[in-house]
Amino acid sequence: MTKKIIDLRSDTVTKPTPEMREAMARAEVGDDVYGEDPTINRLEALGAEMVGKEAALFVPTGTMGNQVSVMAWTNRGDEIILESSAHIYMYEVGGPAVLSQVQIRPVTGYHGAMDPEDVKSAIRSANIHFPRTSLICMENTHNRSGGCVIPLDNMKAIYDLAKEQGVSVHLDGARVFNAATSLGVDVKEVTRYTDSVQFCLSKGLCAPVGSLVAGPRPFVDRARKCRKLLGGGMRQAGILAAAGIIALEKMVSRLSEDHANAQKLARGLSEIPGLGIDMSTVQSNMVAVEVKGVGMDEVEFSAFMKERGVLFNASLPYKVRMVTHHDVSSEDIDEAIERIKDALRG
Ligand SMILES: *Cc1c(COP(=O)(O)O)cnc(C)c1O
Repeated sequence: MTKKIIDLRSDTVTKPTPEMREAMARAEVGDDVYGEDPTINRLEALGAEMVGKEAALFVPTGTMGNQVSVMAWTNRGDEIILESSAHIYMYEVGGPAVLSQVQIRPVTGYHGAMDPEDVKSAIRSANIHFPRTSLICMENTHNRSGGCVIPLDNMKAIYDLAKEQGVSVHLDGARVFNAATSLGVDVKEVTRYTDSVQFCLSKGLCAPVGSLVAGPRPFVDRARKCRKLLGGGMRQAGILAAAGIIALEKMVSRLSEDHANAQKLARGLSEIPGLGIDMSTVQSNMVAVEVKGVGMDEVEFSAFMKERGVLFNASLPYKVRMVTHHDVSSEDIDEAIERIKDALRG
C-alpha cells in the first residue's frame, strides 16, 4: 500500500471542491472586458459587500491584486511604507519598482506588526528633497512571520495616523479571513482599517484561481484600468468566478478547522525532541518549526520527510513552515505527527 502524501506546503495546494466544479460547469458567462460577465459581476458585488467596501475587482492572483492596488494609489517616484518582510516587498518580483516605479521604505515589525511610531516617523514631510509618501501597506495575516495576526488596535493606530497625514492604506489580506477567524470578528472589523484590500480566493478558500481587490469606487476603476495594462483583462472568466462565489459563501466558516489543526500539529510536534515551536506564534493556519535540534538544516529536513510522505517548505534558516488547509484532515495531522516522530526516532 502506498502511503498517502500529506501536503503541508501551503494552503494554495487545495483543489476546487466538487460543488465548485459543478458551479463552474454551469456558470453563466459573458465578456468581462465589456462588463458583461454576470458571474464575475456577482462575485465582485459579493466580495465588496463582505469586506464593507464600495466596489471590487476580480484579478487572477494575489500578486496582481496587490500590484494594481499599488499602481492605483501611487504616482511614479512616490514612496510606499511596508513591513520589512511583507509579501509585496519580498515575493512579488520587485513589482512596485518595475510596474509602479515607486520606492519602498521598509519598516521592521514585530511578528509582522509595524510600530505606529515607526510608521509615523517614516512618513515624509514636504521637504523638496523627499519623495512623497502616498501609501502604507499592512499584511494580515502576516505570511513570513508564520501566519501571525496583526492586532486590530495596531491596524487602527496606523490607519488613523495615515488618514491624518493624507496617506492611503492598502491591506494585503491574502488570508484576511484567517485573520478575522483568529480574532473572532467579522472580516469588516479588520477591513475597516484600510482603504483597499486584496484577498485570495485560491488559498484556504479552495477556489482554483483568483483574488479580489476591494475599495472605494474611484480606486477600483483605476485598478481595473491597471489590470488591463498588465494584461489582466479577462473574457468569460465567470467560470472561475463561480468557484470564487462558493469560496466566499461556503468556505470561510470552516477556516476555524484549519486553525484547530494547526494548534494540534504544533502541540504534537512540540513534544518531539529536537523540534522547537514558539506556540505564541501559532495564530492561524501555519506552524513555524525550528529544526536545528534534529541535526539537519531546513532543506535537509524537508527532503528527509518528503521521502516519508510529509511535504512542507523550508522557510528560514533552520526553520520549516507547515500549513493546514481544507485538504488535510484532523486524522492526517495525527498521521503527519506520527511519521515525523517515527522518522526521527528511527
Ligand atoms: C500568497 C500571497 C500573496 C500572493 O498571492 P498569489 O495568488 O500567489 O499571487 C500575496 N500576499 C500574501 C501575504 C500571500 O500570502
